Amino acid sequence: MTETLFRDDAYLKSCTATVIAVTEQGVVLDRTVFYPTGGGQPGDSGYLRRMDGSTVDVTNTVKGEAPGEIVHVLAAGSVPPAPGETVSAEIDWARRYVHMRYHTALHLLCAVVAAPVTGGQIASDKARADFAIEMEALDKDAIEAKLNALVNAGHPVQIGAISDAELDAQPELIKTMSVSPPRGAGSVRLVEVASVDLQPCGGTHVRNTSEVGPLQVQKIRSEGKLNKRVIISFAE
Ligand SMILES: [Zn+2]
Repeated sequence: MTETLFRDDAYLKSCTATVIAVTEQGVVLDRTVFYPTGGGQPGDSGYLRRMDGSTVDVTNTVKGEAPGEIVHVLAAGSVPPAPGETVSAEIDWARRYVHMRYHTALHLLCAVVAAPVTGGQIASDKARADFAIEMEALDKDAIEAKLNALVNAGHPVQIGAISDAELDAQPELIKTMSVSPPRGAGSVRLVEVASVDLQPCGGTHVRNTSEVGPLQVQKIRSEGKLNKRVIISFAE
């Protein structure tokens, strides 16, 4: 099991950790600030700094085969630190912060477009969500105006939890049909954009919607009868 420090504090840029395993996939640490690919959010990149000061590049982060295991994927040809070794794990913060802003923006988009979400993906220069809705119900200018109003209102973003049983009793909280929240741990992580959006989510978010910054709707296009794609990007 890797302790997921980024779930309690998404703003942590580094941590000290111990190597617990080195697999063909990469390096497993006992704790990490690296977010693993999932929920439409890309895995973090960065590096592991060894005690002698040398660094090993981490090109991606993924979930391992064992439950709760997070794997730091190293650049091809690099020499991994050994099990038992202490390292400093440091993320590419500029890249991650973009993901946090876009991830939070997608929560706002889910609140603005009143329809079931069928998918979502975050990139470095844009983000998208897919909705089961008719094309005529999607007005590009109106969506953009509503998104920016939510950004400008400066809503706090809070992390909470709900028990599996409570979630079963409120299935409407699950807005993303294609992604079911992880069960089995007894509770599920909830992300609340105060008075705007509440849903189970394991990703990293900014603390306040004002940090998202001005948004634009790049494009709205049909991806099938029950799939309309809204692509957003930063306006600056
Ligand atoms: Zn989220």
